[in-house]
Amino acid sequence: MPKSWKIFSPPCLKVRESQYTMLKVKPPDGYPPEQGRYVRGNDYSPVAVCVILDTFDFAIPPELNELVMSAVDSGAALSGMLQTENIGLEKIICNIVANPNIRYIILCGRESAGHLPGESLLALKQNGIDETKRIIGSKALTPYLSNIPTELTDRFNQQIASIINLLCKPGEQDTKSPGLNSKVIEEAVQSCYQEAPVVFMDYRLYDIGAYPEPAIFRKIVAKLNQPQQAVELGKSKMSMGLVLHKLLPQTDCQKCGKRTCLAFAIDLAKDKCHLEDCPFLDQPEFTENRKALDKLLE
Ligand code: SF4
Repeated sequence: MPKSWKIFSPPCLKVRESQYTMLKVKPPDGYPPEQGRYVRGNDYSPVAVCVILDTFDFAIPPELNELVMSAVDSGAALSGMLQTENIGLEKIICNIVANPNIRYIILCGRESAGHLPGESLLALKQNGIDETKRIIGSKALTPYLSNIPTELTDRFNQQIASIINLLCKPGEQDTKSPGLNSKVIEEAVQSCYQEAPVVFMDYRLYDIGAYPEPAIFRKIVAKLNQPQQAVELGKSKMSMGLVLHKLLPQTDCQKCGKRTCLAFAIDLAKDKCHLEDCPFLDQPEFTENRKALDKLLE
Protein backbone atom coordinates (compact mmCIF):
# COMPACT_ATOMS: atom_id res chain seq x y z
CA MET A 1 0.00 0.00 0.00
CA PRO A 2 1.45 3.44 -0.87
CA LYS A 3 2.72 5.47 2.12
CA SER A 4 0.18 8.18 1.37
CA TRP A 5 -2.77 5.87 2.15
CA LYS A 6 -3.87 6.06 5.75
CA ILE A 7 -6.08 3.37 7.28
CA PHE A 8 -8.90 4.12 9.69
CA SER A 9 -11.22 1.74 11.43
CA PRO A 10 -14.81 2.43 10.46
CA PRO A 11 -16.46 4.84 10.71
CA CYS A 12 -13.64 6.59 8.86
CA LEU A 13 -12.84 10.22 9.43
CA LYS A 14 -14.60 12.65 7.15
CA VAL A 15 -11.70 15.09 6.91
CA ARG A 16 -8.51 14.53 4.96
CA GLU A 17 -5.34 15.13 6.99
CA SER A 18 -3.64 16.68 4.00
CA GLN A 19 -4.29 17.11 0.33
CA TYR A 20 -2.58 13.82 -0.42
CA THR A 21 -3.75 11.59 2.41
CA MET A 22 -6.28 9.03 1.20
CA LEU A 23 -8.79 7.79 3.74
CA LYS A 24 -8.87 4.00 3.67
CA VAL A 25 -10.66 1.40 5.75
CA LYS A 26 -9.85 -2.19 6.51
CA PRO A 27 -12.58 -4.44 5.05
CA PRO A 28 -14.45 -6.54 7.64
CA ASP A 29 -13.53 -10.12 8.47
CA GLY A 30 -15.01 -12.50 5.95
CA TYR A 31 -14.75 -9.99 3.09
CA PRO A 32 -15.66 -10.52 0.28
CA PRO A 33 -18.99 -11.99 1.46
CA GLU A 34 -20.01 -13.59 -1.83
CA GLN A 35 -18.05 -16.17 -3.76
CA GLY A 36 -17.83 -15.96 -7.51
CA ARG A 37 -15.69 -15.92 -10.59
CA TYR A 38 -13.33 -13.18 -9.41
CA VAL A 39 -9.82 -12.58 -8.09
CA ARG A 40 -9.13 -10.56 -4.95
CA GLY A 41 -6.35 -8.01 -5.24
CA ASN A 42 -5.41 -4.98 -3.14
CA ASP A 43 -8.16 -4.35 -0.57
CA TYR A 44 -7.21 -0.66 -0.39
CA SER A 45 -7.53 -0.01 -4.10
CA PRO A 46 -10.39 2.28 -5.21
CA VAL A 47 -11.37 0.25 -8.25
CA ALA A 48 -13.05 -3.04 -9.15
CA VAL A 49 -13.07 -4.48 -12.65
CA CYS A 50 -16.12 -6.19 -14.11
CA VAL A 51 -15.56 -8.25 -17.26
CA ILE A 52 -18.75 -9.39 -18.96
CA LEU A 53 -18.81 -13.12 -19.59
CA ASP A 54 -20.68 -13.68 -22.85
CA THR A 55 -20.06 -17.40 -23.22
CA PHE A 56 -20.69 -20.60 -21.28
CA ASP A 57 -18.58 -20.73 -18.16
CA PHE A 58 -16.93 -23.99 -19.24
CA ALA A 59 -15.55 -22.28 -22.34
CA ILE A 60 -14.26 -18.94 -21.15
CA PRO A 61 -12.23 -17.26 -23.93
CA PRO A 62 -8.58 -16.63 -22.97
CA GLU A 63 -8.85 -12.90 -23.71
CA LEU A 64 -11.44 -12.51 -20.95
CA ASN A 65 -9.27 -14.35 -18.44
CA GLU A 66 -6.39 -12.11 -19.42
CA LEU A 67 -8.47 -9.00 -18.75
CA VAL A 68 -9.33 -10.23 -15.26
CA MET A 69 -5.74 -11.11 -14.40
CA SER A 70 -4.11 -8.00 -15.84
CA ALA A 71 -6.60 -5.81 -13.96
CA VAL A 72 -5.79 -7.38 -10.62
CA ASP A 73 -2.05 -7.37 -11.41
CA SER A 74 -2.21 -3.65 -12.08
CA GLY A 75 -3.87 -2.88 -8.75
CA ALA A 76 -7.63 -3.56 -8.77
CA ALA A 77 -9.32 -4.50 -5.49
CA LEU A 78 -11.50 -7.13 -7.15
CA SER A 79 -11.50 -8.28 -10.74
CA GLY A 80 -13.94 -10.79 -12.08
CA MET A 81 -16.65 -11.80 -14.50
CA LEU A 82 -20.32 -10.94 -14.62
CA GLN A 83 -22.68 -13.27 -16.45
CA THR A 84 -26.22 -12.51 -15.33
CA GLU A 85 -28.30 -9.39 -14.82
CA ASN A 86 -29.76 -10.59 -11.51
CA ILE A 87 -27.81 -12.91 -9.19
CA GLY A 88 -24.49 -11.99 -10.76
CA LEU A 89 -25.15 -8.31 -10.16
CA GLU A 90 -26.37 -9.00 -6.63
CA LYS A 91 -23.07 -10.69 -5.79
CA ILE A 92 -21.10 -7.73 -7.12
CA ILE A 93 -23.18 -5.32 -5.04
CA CYS A 94 -22.65 -7.38 -1.85
CA ASN A 95 -18.89 -7.51 -2.39
CA ILE A 96 -18.53 -3.83 -3.20
CA VAL A 97 -20.55 -2.40 -0.32
CA ALA A 98 -18.44 -4.62 1.98
CA ASN A 99 -15.37 -2.61 0.96
CA PRO A 100 -15.86 1.18 1.16
CA ASN A 101 -12.46 1.72 -0.50
CA ILE A 102 -13.97 0.72 -3.87
CA ARG A 103 -15.28 3.86 -5.58
CA TYR A 104 -14.99 2.99 -9.27
CA ILE A 105 -15.99 0.08 -11.50
CA ILE A 106 -14.36 -0.51 -14.86
CA LEU A 107 -16.86 -2.27 -17.11
CA CYS A 108 -15.25 -4.15 -19.99
CA GLY A 109 -15.41 -7.24 -22.20
CA ARG A 110 -18.26 -7.47 -24.69
CA GLU A 111 -21.93 -7.33 -23.86
CA SER A 112 -23.80 -10.61 -23.56
CA ALA A 113 -26.76 -10.37 -25.92
CA GLY A 114 -28.67 -12.99 -23.91
CA HIS A 115 -28.54 -11.43 -20.45
CA LEU A 116 -27.50 -7.79 -21.05
CA PRO A 117 -25.63 -7.67 -17.71
CA GLY A 118 -23.44 -4.73 -18.75
CA GLU A 119 -26.37 -2.60 -19.79
CA SER A 120 -28.16 -3.59 -16.58
CA LEU A 121 -25.20 -2.50 -14.42
CA LEU A 122 -25.12 0.88 -16.16
CA ALA A 123 -28.90 1.25 -15.83
CA LEU A 124 -28.69 0.39 -12.13
CA LYS A 125 -26.13 3.12 -11.53
CA GLN A 126 -28.09 5.63 -13.60
CA ASN A 127 -31.67 4.88 -12.54
CA GLY A 128 -31.71 2.55 -9.53
CA ILE A 129 -34.53 0.04 -8.99
CA ASP A 130 -38.32 0.36 -8.77
CA GLU A 131 -40.65 -0.91 -6.03
CA THR A 132 -40.54 -4.44 -7.50
CA LYS A 133 -36.71 -4.33 -7.39
CA ARG A 134 -36.52 -4.26 -11.17
CA ILE A 135 -33.60 -2.25 -12.55
CA ILE A 136 -35.21 0.81 -14.12
CA GLY A 137 -34.44 1.12 -17.82
CA SER A 138 -32.78 -2.29 -18.27
CA LYS A 139 -33.90 -4.16 -21.38
CA ALA A 140 -32.73 -7.51 -19.99
CA LEU A 141 -35.26 -10.30 -19.53
CA THR A 142 -35.13 -10.57 -15.73
CA PRO A 143 -33.23 -7.62 -14.23
CA TYR A 144 -34.61 -8.13 -10.72
CA LEU A 145 -32.43 -7.72 -7.62
CA SER A 146 -34.85 -9.60 -5.39
CA ASN A 147 -32.34 -11.34 -3.13
CA ILE A 148 -30.82 -8.26 -1.52
CA PRO A 149 -32.43 -5.39 0.41
CA THR A 150 -32.94 -2.02 -1.28
CA GLU A 151 -30.53 -0.55 1.27
CA LEU A 152 -27.70 -2.35 -0.52
CA THR A 153 -28.55 -1.12 -4.01
CA ASP A 154 -28.93 2.44 -2.69
CA ARG A 155 -25.59 2.23 -0.94
CA PHE A 156 -23.94 0.75 -4.03
CA ASN A 157 -25.14 3.68 -6.13
CA GLN A 158 -23.87 6.19 -3.58
CA GLN A 159 -20.53 4.48 -2.98
CA ILE A 160 -19.64 4.04 -6.66
CA ALA A 161 -18.64 7.45 -7.95
CA SER A 162 -18.37 6.36 -11.57
CA ILE A 163 -18.59 3.35 -13.86
CA ILE A 164 -15.90 3.61 -16.51
CA ASN A 165 -17.69 2.16 -19.47
CA LEU A 166 -15.39 0.37 -21.93
CA LEU A 167 -17.91 -2.31 -22.86
CA CYS A 168 -17.75 -3.59 -26.44
CA LYS A 169 -20.74 -4.55 -28.56
CA PRO A 170 -21.89 -8.21 -28.53
CA GLY A 171 -19.70 -10.39 -30.71
CA GLU A 172 -16.73 -7.98 -30.86
CA GLN A 173 -13.57 -9.98 -31.50
CA ASP A 174 -10.95 -7.26 -31.98
CA THR A 175 -8.74 -7.44 -28.90
CA LYS A 176 -7.44 -3.96 -29.70
CA SER A 177 -10.87 -2.55 -28.86
CA PRO A 178 -10.57 -0.70 -25.52
CA GLY A 179 -12.90 -3.05 -23.65
CA LEU A 180 -10.94 -6.13 -24.74
CA ASN A 181 -7.46 -4.63 -24.56
CA SER A 182 -5.63 -5.51 -21.34
CA LYS A 183 -3.24 -2.55 -21.73
CA VAL A 184 -6.17 -0.13 -21.79
CA ILE A 185 -7.72 -1.82 -18.75
CA GLU A 186 -4.39 -1.55 -16.89
CA GLU A 187 -4.23 2.15 -17.72
CA ALA A 188 -7.79 2.64 -16.50
CA VAL A 189 -7.02 0.85 -13.21
CA GLN A 190 -3.88 2.90 -12.65
CA SER A 191 -5.73 6.14 -13.41
CA CYS A 192 -8.21 5.39 -10.63
CA TYR A 193 -5.58 5.25 -7.92
CA GLN A 194 -3.64 8.39 -8.77
CA GLU A 195 -3.38 10.95 -6.01
CA ALA A 196 -4.12 13.87 -8.33
CA PRO A 197 -6.71 13.86 -11.14
CA VAL A 198 -5.71 12.43 -14.52
CA VAL A 199 -7.65 12.26 -17.75
CA PHE A 200 -8.50 8.80 -19.03
CA MET A 201 -10.62 8.90 -22.18
CA ASP A 202 -13.71 10.94 -21.19
CA TYR A 203 -13.13 10.46 -17.48
CA ARG A 204 -11.27 12.50 -14.87
CA LEU A 205 -10.01 9.97 -12.36
CA TYR A 206 -8.11 9.87 -9.09
CA ASP A 207 -8.37 8.15 -5.74
CA ILE A 208 -11.12 9.95 -3.88
CA GLY A 209 -10.67 7.83 -0.74
CA ALA A 210 -13.04 5.49 1.04
CA TYR A 211 -16.80 6.07 1.12
CA PRO A 212 -17.38 7.80 4.46
CA GLU A 213 -19.73 5.19 5.94
CA PRO A 214 -18.96 1.78 7.46
CA ALA A 215 -18.86 -1.31 5.31
CA ILE A 216 -22.11 -3.24 4.93
CA PHE A 217 -21.51 -6.96 5.24
CA ARG A 218 -24.46 -8.85 3.76
CA LYS A 219 -24.87 -12.03 1.80
CA ILE A 220 -27.60 -12.80 -0.69
CA VAL A 221 -30.74 -13.87 1.18
CA ALA A 222 -31.54 -17.61 1.06
CA LYS A 223 -32.97 -18.22 -2.38
CA LEU A 224 -35.68 -20.52 -1.04
CA ASN A 225 -37.82 -17.70 0.34
CA GLN A 226 -38.02 -15.35 -2.61
CA PRO A 227 -39.42 -17.64 -5.30
CA GLN A 228 -42.19 -18.85 -3.01
CA GLN A 229 -43.37 -15.27 -2.51
CA ALA A 230 -43.20 -14.65 -6.21
CA VAL A 231 -45.19 -17.76 -7.00
CA GLU A 232 -47.95 -16.54 -4.74
CA LEU A 233 -47.94 -13.24 -6.57
CA GLY A 234 -47.76 -14.60 -10.06
CA LYS A 235 -50.48 -16.96 -11.22
CA SER A 236 -49.54 -17.40 -14.84
CA LYS A 237 -47.17 -20.03 -16.23
CA MET A 238 -44.98 -17.22 -17.54
CA SER A 239 -44.59 -15.77 -14.04
CA MET A 240 -43.81 -19.21 -12.72
CA GLY A 241 -41.29 -19.69 -15.53
CA LEU A 242 -39.50 -16.45 -14.58
CA VAL A 243 -39.27 -17.60 -10.98
CA LEU A 244 -37.92 -21.01 -11.97
CA HIS A 245 -35.44 -19.36 -14.33
CA LYS A 246 -33.77 -17.55 -11.44
CA LEU A 247 -32.80 -20.89 -9.95
CA LEU A 248 -31.37 -22.42 -13.13
CA PRO A 249 -27.66 -22.22 -14.09
CA GLN A 250 -28.47 -19.50 -16.67
CA THR A 251 -25.76 -20.50 -19.11
CA ASP A 252 -28.13 -21.20 -22.02
CA CYS A 253 -25.98 -24.22 -22.90
CA GLN A 254 -28.89 -26.06 -24.62
CA LYS A 255 -27.94 -29.45 -23.13
CA CYS A 256 -31.56 -29.88 -22.07
CA GLY A 257 -32.64 -29.54 -25.68
CA LYS A 258 -34.09 -26.05 -25.17
CA ARG A 259 -32.72 -22.93 -26.77
CA THR A 260 -32.27 -21.08 -23.47
CA CYS A 261 -32.63 -21.64 -19.73
CA LEU A 262 -35.71 -19.40 -19.84
CA ALA A 263 -37.35 -21.61 -22.47
CA PHE A 264 -36.57 -24.61 -20.26
CA ALA A 265 -38.05 -22.83 -17.24
CA ILE A 266 -41.27 -21.96 -19.05
CA ASP A 267 -41.64 -25.54 -20.29
CA LEU A 268 -40.98 -26.76 -16.73
CA ALA A 269 -43.82 -24.55 -15.54
CA LYS A 270 -46.05 -26.06 -18.25
CA ASP A 271 -44.98 -29.58 -17.22
CA LYS A 272 -43.50 -30.17 -20.67
CA CYS A 273 -40.04 -31.19 -19.40
CA HIS A 274 -38.32 -32.30 -16.20
CA LEU A 275 -35.60 -31.00 -13.90
CA GLU A 276 -33.55 -34.10 -14.71
CA ASP A 277 -33.19 -32.81 -18.27
CA CYS A 278 -30.70 -30.18 -17.03
CA PRO A 279 -27.51 -32.09 -16.12
CA PHE A 280 -26.10 -29.25 -14.02
CA LEU A 281 -28.80 -29.38 -11.36
CA ASP A 282 -27.22 -32.56 -9.95
CA GLN A 283 -23.96 -30.75 -9.25
CA PRO A 284 -23.17 -29.82 -5.63
CA GLU A 285 -23.19 -26.07 -6.28
CA PHE A 286 -26.84 -26.27 -7.31
CA THR A 287 -28.05 -28.42 -4.39
CA GLU A 288 -29.93 -25.55 -2.77
CA ASN A 289 -31.41 -24.38 -6.04
CA ARG A 290 -32.53 -27.92 -6.86
CA LYS A 291 -34.33 -28.19 -3.52
CA ALA A 292 -36.07 -24.89 -4.20
CA LEU A 293 -37.06 -25.99 -7.69
CA ASP A 294 -38.46 -29.29 -6.37
CA LYS A 295 -40.48 -27.38 -3.80
CA LEU A 296 -41.84 -24.94 -6.36
CA LEU A 297 -42.85 -27.74 -8.72
CA GLU A 298 -44.57 -29.87 -6.04
S1 SF4 B 1 -31.59 -25.46 -18.29
FE1 SF4 B 1 -30.88 -26.21 -20.24
S2 SF4 B 1 -29.87 -24.48 -21.13
FE2 SF4 B 1 -30.03 -24.05 -18.98
S3 SF4 B 1 -28.14 -24.81 -18.04
FE3 SF4 B 1 -29.63 -26.44 -17.90
S4 SF4 B 1 -29.23 -27.65 -19.70
FE4 SF4 B 1 -28.28 -25.68 -20.06
